[in-house]
Amino acid sequence: QKIVIAIDGYSGCGKSSTAKSVAKRLGYTYIDSGAMYRAATLYFLDNKVDIEVKADVLKHLDVLDITFKLNPHTQEQETYLNGNNVEQEIRTMRVSEYVSEVSKLKEVRQELVSQQQKMGKDKGVVMDGRDIGTVVFPQAELKIFMTADLQIRAARRQRELEAKGVEVAIEKIIQNLSERDEIDSSRKESPLLKANDAVEIDTSHLEFEDQVNRIVVLAQE
Ligand code: C5P
Repeated sequence: QKIVIAIDGYSGCGKSSTAKSVAKRLGYTYIDSGAMYRAATLYFLDNKVDIEVKADVLKHLDVLDITFKLNPHTQEQETYLNGNNVEQEIRTMRVSEYVSEVSKLKEVRQELVSQQQKMGKDKGVVMDGRDIGTVVFPQAELKIFMTADLQIRAARRQRELEAKGVEVAIEKIIQNLSERDEIDSSRKESPLLKANDAVEIDTSHLEFEDQVNRIVVLAQE
């Protein structure tokens, strides 16, 4: 019996890597909803779309085509925007610093939520984000809400970026994570919230494999 697993939480808690690993263990599909908001943001930046002008946002959303493809060499899922691989570019600070502004827009959320619901309709998916358990799949069989200390999250993110050869000062990462959390939690349109029936996991002092195991066990209950 396949289920939907919704993983929400603050920025940089390890939601994506955990979700990816859980999906692999269960033979499920992993869907990174944040990558979709990031791809939309990249598109708006590159096309100089004024996000204050609703008609322009709607016009551009119409031609936005976001898909995921498995890289056969790494077996990792990669994000494509209108046919181009944007996996690297959507992780840059330029996108990270603007994505929460774009994610506030009702028009953007409506479009991406409806695409996410289609992607998950056959179940057997693990989706991570901010509103998956509350808005995208309020009926999800398993909901997880991940948290971790800000300092620990920032240090992990810095190591991740370093591994990709990108050096970013820890202060800049702390500032970006806390700014995004603030905007994501206080926005009017589907704010970041723990669903009532979500299981909270604080990953500050957990080993990665332990947090994955915990979720796999819950999924098999
Ligand atoms: O998950 P990630 O940190 O890559 O998400 C980037 C940003 O996209 C978040 O800070 C948030 O502003 C937005 N987002 C969202 N709803 C989601 C997933 C991401 O608003 N379901």
